[in-house]
Amino acid sequence: MLPLVALVGRPNVGKSTLFNVLTRSRDALVHDQPGVTRDRHYGMCRIEGQRPFVVVDTGGIAGEDEGLAGATARQARAAAEEADVVLFVVDGREGPSALDDDILGWLRRLAKPTLLVVNKTDGLDLEEALAEFARYGIAGMIPISSTHRRGIDELLDEVRERL
Ligand code: GDP
Ligand code: MG
Repeated sequence: MLPLVALVGRPNVGKSTLFNVLTRSRDALVHDQPGVTRDRHYGMCRIEGQRPFVVVDTGGIAGEDEGLAGATARQARAAAEEADVVLFVVDGREGPSALDDDILGWLRRLAKPTLLVVNKTDGLDLEEALAEFARYGIAGMIPISSTHRRGIDELLDEVRERL
């Protein structure tokens, strides 16, 4: 069994963009799991000379318990539960939001190896972007830009240390 890395976070923080960056490497295989996993999207992260891992993208977690948003949140939790490492993706431009605080709450209860991935840091002061999330108390905080492909190698190093 290959290790599994889950991308979780509120809508619009750049999870799917990061998923594409991670899985677009050579021989990347992306497919939908029909039926059961409406909002889970699996792909492979293959880097030459390194053990591949599976990445699961999830729909954004909206803070609703009913309807589609609720179903999406459940999918995200299910993905986090089955994962070996969770990438909690946040938006470095907007800073922490109430929804991020909620997600942090259930991630803490889950107690899985978790990295805080501060995305959209292109054009930002990296230290300042990270400092905004320091109160979350997550040891591994990595600033990245998915659209500019910055920080991805550093992120992969941190993921590998936790697999
Ligand atoms: P998701 O809802 O978390 O899956 O977010 P998406 O991947 O769909 O991205 C939401 C929006 O944020 C899109 O317009 C992306 O182009 C944009 N975005 C994603 N990553 C970055 C980034 O690193 N920097 C900037 N500036 N925009 C980003
Ligand atoms: Mg998405």
